[in-house]
Amino acid sequence: MPARLLLLCLLTLCAGPALAQSHFNILVYHHVAEDTPASTTVSPATFREHLEYLRDNNHPVIALQAALDAVRNDEALPDGAVVITFDDAFKNIYTNAFPLLQEFATPFTIFAATDPIDQGFNDMLSWDQLREMQEWGATIANHSRDHDYMVRHTPRDNAWREAMATNIRHAQQRLEDELGDDIPRWFAYPYGEYSAGLKSILQNENFVGFAQHSGGVYSGSDFLALPRFAAAGNYARLETLSTKLNSHPMPIDLSSIPDMPTTESQPSMTIRVDDTSDMSQALNCFVDSSWQDAQWIDEQQFKLSAPEPLGTGRHRFNCTAQARSGNFFYWYSQPWLVLEE
Ligand SMILES: [Zn+2]
Repeated sequence: MPARLLLLCLLTLCAGPALAQSHFNILVYHHVAEDTPASTTVSPATFREHLEYLRDNNHPVIALQAALDAVRNDEALPDGAVVITFDDAFKNIYTNAFPLLQEFATPFTIFAATDPIDQGFNDMLSWDQLREMQEWGATIANHSRDHDYMVRHTPRDNAWREAMATNIRHAQQRLEDELGDDIPRWFAYPYGEYSAGLKSILQNENFVGFAQHSGGVYSGSDFLALPRFAAAGNYARLETLSTKLNSHPMPIDLSSIPDMPTTESQPSMTIRVDDTSDMSQALNCFVDSSWQDAQWIDEQQFKLSAPEPLGTGRHRFNCTAQARSGNFFYWYSQPWLVLEE
């Protein structure tokens, strides 16, 4: 047996077929209402459809803490497990979503920015409403103090680092003051925008980070920028949602992932996949909503580039590969924040 094969064998192959690692997918909602911005809204009727779909199609909804514990400790999770989250703490979560979540006995997490609540904004949840949902079993977590852009305009110097850490600590303190000491150290990035610098602040503060690009969570995920599938607007249709809910995270070598902010107007990525054995070689990739050919450089690495300048702001590369072992896709998404040079 050639030495290289023997080494591979020792590392993986001789253990038999790769065990399906436990994984789960997170959905992110904002508004559950009729009259709020379409791109971040599902109607109460659609939200009910989602909950019915999950119940009737083997997608157990589990609490985020239990899901994180399972993947980190390599404990089994039911295939198709889903976590439900809401960002921003809009009042319609209480009025429109909470009755349905109670009816379906669905655990959920709300990521709240604390200043708008402290200021009593009319369309935001009150502390009393958050307490009531928490007492029922909801988890409330940190979405910054002020929901400002955190990585766009500021110089990434020590003053910026201190300001960001102070912002996150202030929000956490307000949550603990109002809701008790067992607020998890979870942080959802405002607008899903993060950077290596901001991630390192979360790491120092001992937080798990949640972003807004698509993909699933497993033990090899970046726990400082966990992906979540958007479930509102165009993404609310059950047909597209079911593909995502059944997807598995593509096992990516984290060291090959580029940072989200870039000054390249045509960003490019070369991603190394840890284990391609169950993946079809044919990648289906999109730059924003346009299909784009991706190239395998070798057996483990593929390259995808924007075919034209993207313009400043947020963009996404999405790549999926059909599984060989079942009727599902492996999913990887790279978020970009294109900044002025
Ligand atoms: Zn938000």
